[in-house]
Amino acid sequence: MHLALVRVDDGEQFAVREDGEAGWCLLRSLGAEPRDLPEAVRAAAEVSATALASAPRERSVTLGAVARSARKILAVGLNYRSHVEETGMVRPDAPIIFVKYSSSVIGPTDAIRVDPSITTQVDYEAELAVVIGRSARRVSEADALAHVFGYAVANDVSARDLQAADSQISRSKSLDTFGPIGPWITTADAVPDPQSLTIRSFVDDEPRQDSTTSLMLYSVAELISYLSRTTTLEPGDVILTGTPKGVGLGFTPPRFLSPGSTVRCEVSSLGEISNPVLLDPSDELS
Ligand code: ZN
Repeated sequence: MHLALVRVDDGEQFAVREDGEAGWCLLRSLGAEPRDLPEAVRAAAEVSATALASAPRERSVTLGAVARSARKILAVGLNYRSHVEETGMVRPDAPIIFVKYSSSVIGPTDAIRVDPSITTQVDYEAELAVVIGRSARRVSEADALAHVFGYAVANDVSARDLQAADSQISRSKSLDTFGPIGPWITTADAVPDPQSLTIRSFVDDEPRQDSTTSLMLYSVAELISYLSRTTTLEPGDVILTGTPKGVGLGFTPPRFLSPGSTVRCEVSSLGEISNPVLLDPSDELS
């Protein structure tokens, strides 16, 4: 099943559909009124196939930012050896965790807005996003995947100049619009092994990243177990699991995103997100 945020006449609504179906079923038409992603995850987990089969559908919708109302987005740095090597960094002894503010999240076709007076080194990072479904506190690796609601495609857009200048990297990863996630969340039952997915990115249709989640240094299960030792993971929490080789910073000279480009990220069986890069229309900070 897929969980999305869809734009309908009276605003944005969480909706579900089975894989391959054309129309979306609003969760409110199934008796739920989720106000945010945590509530939507809980409601979607309760949807029965029978109820879904006979429910009304919305056929022409625009997809919104399904993960915008996540309570926390935890992200992992340097989680593929190929990316560690291209950045000239050292392989980490433990997962490198940072926070990406949920206010940066946009939908699967929304624009990434770039203000050149703030950053001139905007980079892309295709990633597998994990969405928690059941509260996880101090879970073992063996039990970790049972706490996953589903998976999505993410682009951990990064301002490399701010990243290099700051001692904490969350600001450089959390500029408004720097968090495309989507196109929807695919439930975990449709993803038997999160470590066997291909992950790719393209800038203006030119291939940039082409790897597999089998090459993560720390697996999804290891990351959930590690994070849950110190922080309870709750339904709707999102984990960005790191990016493989091929980011703009890894080229000589670097190939950053510029206004007018479109960056597309895809993960096998989860769909794709394709976001144009546009100049931020505001000339100054207000
Ligand atoms: Zn990243």
